Amino acid sequence: MGTEADKQTKTTGGLTQTKCPLCDHPEMTGFFEIESAPVFCNVLWNTREEALSAHRAPIHLAYCNNCGLIYNVAFDPELIEYSPDYENSLHFSPRFQKHAEDTANRLIQQYQLRNKDIIEIGCGQGDFLAMLQRLGDNRVLGFDPSYTHEKTAAYPEDSTIEVITQTYSTMHTSQPVDFICCRHVLEHIDSPVDFLRSIRCTIGQRSDCVVYFEVPNALYTLKDMGVWDIIYEHCSYFTSESLANVFMRVGFASIHVTEQYDGQFLSIEVRPTAAETNSGADVELAFSNIQDLVNRFHKAYRDKVDSWQHTLLQLAQQKKRVVLWGGGSKGVTFLNVLDISYEQIEYIVDVNPRKQGKFIAGTGQQVIAPDFLKEYQPQTVIIMNPIYRKEIQDTIKEFALAPEFEMA
Ligand SMILES: [Zn+2]
Repeated sequence: MGTEADKQTKTTGGLTQTKCPLCDHPEMTGFFEIESAPVFCNVLWNTREEALSAHRAPIHLAYCNNCGLIYNVAFDPELIEYSPDYENSLHFSPRFQKHAEDTANRLIQQYQLRNKDIIEIGCGQGDFLAMLQRLGDNRVLGFDPSYTHEKTAAYPEDSTIEVITQTYSTMHTSQPVDFICCRHVLEHIDSPVDFLRSIRCTIGQRSDCVVYFEVPNALYTLKDMGVWDIIYEHCSYFTSESLANVFMRVGFASIHVTEQYDGQFLSIEVRPTAAETNSGADVELAFSNIQDLVNRFHKAYRDKVDSWQHTLLQLAQQKKRVVLWGGGSKGVTFLNVLDISYEQIEYIVDVNPRKQGKFIAGTGQQVIAPDFLKEYQPQTVIIMNPIYRKEIQDTIKEFALAPEFEMA
């Protein structure tokens, strides 16, 4: 992990300039800042008081002209420690559940993952791993420091998921492995090169081992609908080019990158090359549109914030009962950027029972189950993620409610 000194941080004219953590290019170009964001979006608090005093830190996004990586150059890994309080499972959404199951089925089919040894890094509560075990009759092992037995097990009682509450590293090289998967982890790691290099090391000469990673798609984030995806927990934002680039640098090839989940995620499938390291000197990928995108992003973000400030003012004047649906990263960023008080919007709906009853970092709204709406009767429902629009509207219809819907 890089120290502050390694990153050679210096501040000039309000922009922080830093060496690229992916390709070591000496200068990244700053393009966007949030001065104070909650450090954790996915840790919900037991009391409103705690939620309101949650730790905050700045986000300064910059991009690398050489490899296309977008990075929070103000990121301080010391502030981040994943513990059992960390909860970002999307497992309770039928739409996400289907994505996970389709992915598991496709990977099993494509790489003949039957009766094989599978490792998942950052497996959360083991929901995806349980699918790979069940659908392909595989032997599975998970690694996740935030795993806890106490959370409700979402997989069948009889499954035999073993999860090690450590970070996967070269210490675990002796574990048999045919397939390694890692979903929504890489973007949290301050030194993605070191992290992937250590995974490459554990594979050694096992050239048949397939590696699957899934990350948020930076191109989606930079577009209009994705602006609420910027959170402190994510230090890196990958495009398909920068994602392929980092894997090539540390000794992987046969690179296959595809968009998933209506373009919101990127997946990458790779195999190890004969050599465990690659100089990276021959890595040259096109990413000509990144500069245009970051320039346009600033305007899209500003427009979005202005338009929402106007809408929120109108809703307040009309004394509408408003709820927001989605207590994850997007919801937390939306509430904090727009500085929405818990008096203005009192409740956040989330289908994840592990979040219900808790409070949102920074702004203090309480998270409630969808059922609560029958009694609360909201007049406006703000939907954080368009991908869940249908399942949310179906639920509301079942409750015989007819609120207005707004897409965040
Ligand atoms: Zn770079």
